[in-house]
Amino acid sequence: MTARIQAYVKINLHFDVSGLREDGFHNVVTVLHSLSLCDVVDIELSDGGDILIECDKIGVPLDEKNIAHKAANLFFEKLGKRCGVSIKIKKNIPMAAGLAGGSADGAAVLIGLNKIFDEPFSSEELCEIGARLGADVPFCILCGCAYSEGRGDLPQSLPTLSRDMIFVVACGGEGVSTPRAYAMLDDIYNCFTDYRPKTVDKIIGAIAGNDLDSLANSLFNIFEAPISKERAAVGEIKSIMIDSGARVSMMSGSGPSVFGIFEKISDAEEAVRAITQKNYFAATAFPIDKRM
Ligand code: ATP
Repeated sequence: MTARIQAYVKINLHFDVSGLREDGFHNVVTVLHSLSLCDVVDIELSDGGDILIECDKIGVPLDEKNIAHKAANLFFEKLGKRCGVSIKIKKNIPMAAGLAGGSADGAAVLIGLNKIFDEPFSSEELCEIGARLGADVPFCILCGCAYSEGRGDLPQSLPTLSRDMIFVVACGGEGVSTPRAYAMLDDIYNCFTDYRPKTVDKIIGAIAGNDLDSLANSLFNIFEAPISKERAAVGEIKSIMIDSGARVSMMSGSGPSVFGIFEKISDAEEAVRAITQKNYFAATAFPIDKRM
């Protein structure tokens, strides 16, 4: 019994912080969208009880540290039955880039195992398991476009952008540690004691109207300014995208990944060429609809 699942990348069209939680984590306010750039995850049941991970990319952990491994463990725990499983990951999403590549792989394993076992769990139950793996996993299960706040693990679906918005996803330079990125924000905003998060009405309206002009005017990422100061590649990639004809370009998540939105595929392809010439990663992608 096998399943092949696409593990789609996520970008943040809006990313803000509304305050610090008692547990030390941050309350986020975010709007996420999935795009067609994806890892491909093949799942196959095997004899015995081992969870075996293979990946074509060096540097991805192949043991219980891999989120795909953890996902299989939690799935079997909830199922009350232990099986052997082989998980092969073809990695296309850059790592430690703020694109939730690991979360997407974990989500793919939950969806794949649920298919193989004839859908024992609803999408809500899969999301509950996913939330134990990481805040982005429920969104990576559902896909599409969503608003999320608090810990960020309870996405509320929004309409998706149309496929005539052409995205380029890129990243270059050293990865960013998410805890360090939040620590930088705490320094700048005095642990968010007096900070008021931006309203999301405009961005949600722009998405509902599939309106690129107002989308371009309402994208926001609180991490962009501080991370850009440390990672020259962020500004460099944004400039290449704008020079190639992007209507707008912004850093995603805690960086250093950057996305741009284009109206013409030729401009998007030009941006990919110019960015990859600098030895950075870049790929075109289109918006993905909700899958559950
Ligand atoms: P997020 O946006 O969810 O914080 P990210 O995109 O910044 O994640 P990932 O690509 O998910 O970062 O990887 C972060 C770390 O997670 C890696 O350095 C790696 O050690 C570990 N990891 C565990 N499982 C995976 C996986 N399946 N794919 C990639 N990295 C994984």
